[in-house]
Amino acid sequence: MHVDLYEYQGRDLFARHGLPVLDGGVATSADEAAAIAGRLGGRVVVKAQVKVGGRGKAGGVRLADSVDEARARAGDILGMDIKGHTVHQVLVTTTADIVEEYYFSYLLDRASRTFLCIASTAGGMEIEQVAQATPEKVVREPIDAGIGVDAATARAIVARAGFPAEVAAEIEAIAVRLWQTFIAEDALLVEVNPLARAVVGGQERVLLLDAKVSLDDNATFRHTDHETLVDSAAVDPLEQRAKERDLNYVKLDGEVGIIGNGAGLVMSTLDVVAYAGESYGGVRPANFLDIGGGASAEVMASGLEIVLSDPAVRSVFVNVFGGITACDAVANGIVSALDLLAQRGETVDKPLVVRLDGNNAQAGRAILAQAGNPMVEHVDTMDAAAARAAELAAVGA
Ligand code: GDP
Ligand code: MN
Repeated sequence: MHVDLYEYQGRDLFARHGLPVLDGGVATSADEAAAIAGRLGGRVVVKAQVKVGGRGKAGGVRLADSVDEARARAGDILGMDIKGHTVHQVLVTTTADIVEEYYFSYLLDRASRTFLCIASTAGGMEIEQVAQATPEKVVREPIDAGIGVDAATARAIVARAGFPAEVAAEIEAIAVRLWQTFIAEDALLVEVNPLARAVVGGQERVLLLDAKVSLDDNATFRHTDHETLVDSAAVDPLEQRAKERDLNYVKLDGEVGIIGNGAGLVMSTLDVVAYAGESYGGVRPANFLDIGGGASAEVMASGLEIVLSDPAVRSVFVNVFGGITACDAVANGIVSALDLLAQRGETVDKPLVVRLDGNNAQAGRAILAQAGNPMVEHVDTMDAAAARAAELAAVGA
């Protein structure tokens, strides 16, 4: 999984690693934008913060010559819709007079299983278009992960891409530092478009004027600071809660809650339920939830709680194949999970269809029967259980 950052977050990351970016701040209102513009001296760029490219073309990047103009431009941009994304924040930065726009990125290229540097003297527009129209202007350089980008590698990239001699040394230094940033932050992509040769305060410099950064979610444990970068508003609230509990949960759009142990079993459970659902008015799986091999009472309780709290869920199919954790342990887990939820005052008023198979299945079924919860029903086979869960979802609808 990966976490895409807003431009201002990527820009902050670049700044922390000592890369040259323009001074600025992020605002959620026109007045806040005006205040930042005031601090920066009036002449600013106001930029929509949405996680899509092409903001410039869509009118989401505007220059302002004064504080009042900055307020007006921020007012125009906030609330704008850019390719289906509503703008809630703007980045306000000092301006640079651009002389030339270049393109520079590092990425993990899964297709060729290597790191790649893509560089071009034709920046400011979409690199895919440049690559199509003038492929000779786009350099793709594989990076040896063992060596990384040292001074010699940077020099080779800059020479191959044909950056002008006047900016070569500066871009080489940026290339090395950007690689260090890419590695230190466990990024999957750092893209700078434009990397600009610009005049700021009478001085010509190379600046990173845009930031597209994608981080590797799997490395979050190494970067506690990355957690604040996750856009919680954009994440499904149930998925968010599941994640906080370390559950492997994905929200889907159907009515039959699914809990299983093992990703493969859960995947095939989704298929079987979707198929069975066709005979019951097209009911479908409401989620993917793999509670893993352990399947303890607490994990089962957390899983049940998440699935049952989904208002779209009308029935739940618990599909367990006893392996290392035998079915009697899982059955005990289900019974204690239901007790736990009852103790917390969370009434389980949606029917549960349970299918236990594999190791100690008989003992597991006996435990469920013994507990005698009227909402729990055991069905022997996966197909029959899926059909029963679909039927109950259709009845409950
Ligand atoms: P994108 O369209 O979403 O990629 O947004 P960018 O941040 O790349 O901005 C689009 C274009 O706006 C750039 O290619 C520049 O031409 C222009 N731009 C961005 N920042 C500045 C700036 O500080 N000064 C000037 N003059 N132009 C800028
Ligand atoms: Mn850009």
